Amino acid sequence: MPKKTLGLEKELYDYFLSASLREPEILFKLRQETASHPRAMMQIAPEQGQFMALLVQLIGAKKTLEVGVFTGYSSLSVALALPADGTILACDISEEYTAIARRYWQQAGVADKIELRLAPAVETLDGLLAANAAKTFDFAFIDGDKENYDAYYERCLQLVRPGGLIAIDNVLWSGRVADPLVQDESTQAIRAFNEKLHHDERVTVSLVPIADGLTLALKRNIGV
Ligand code: CA
Repeated sequence: MPKKTLGLEKELYDYFLSASLREPEILFKLRQETASHPRAMMQIAPEQGQFMALLVQLIGAKKTLEVGVFTGYSSLSVALALPADGTILACDISEEYTAIARRYWQQAGVADKIELRLAPAVETLDGLLAANAAKTFDFAFIDGDKENYDAYYERCLQLVRPGGLIAIDNVLWSGRVADPLVQDESTQAIRAFNEKLHHDERVTVSLVPIADGLTLALKRNIGV
């Protein structure tokens, strides 16, 4: 079952969607197709896609980054919200999952906005920094493997401009972060990351409890 906002009773969640979800047909189709995927839990919730579309419009984003594409729901949500000259540099390592994403980007007519880089994201982000792309991105979405969240965040923080926004997914991790009995590597990595962001003076932060928890970090005009 795909992700949905944590902690809402079914009746209230259903009402929440019926009262506010504006999901384009193409995103609905992608969600239906991904629902039968063995790793469907990796797809973001539809209300989160809508929220991220609003965020990129809110900050007037044009040049964006995504770490962790899966079958493309988040990238398609963002691409549809970007202006005609907007771009997404999308990082993933799975040819198989992103083949689905590519098919939907094509169908939606946004394929020319999205450049997919199939390589470990740390390498791609380091390549961008080496090519003087620091402070040139408006928005970054981090949703890759949790053990590398800090590595992705530190690189994205250099790559976004002051006033640019980084959104980090799964920071509530189905509630496992709050259960001291859960001590696997991914959970520990997310806990450590949340703790770091709480005190990171380089950004203005808010942990938004939508879907599986989405931290918003706005880069301040100091330091980095
Ligand atoms: Ca996710």
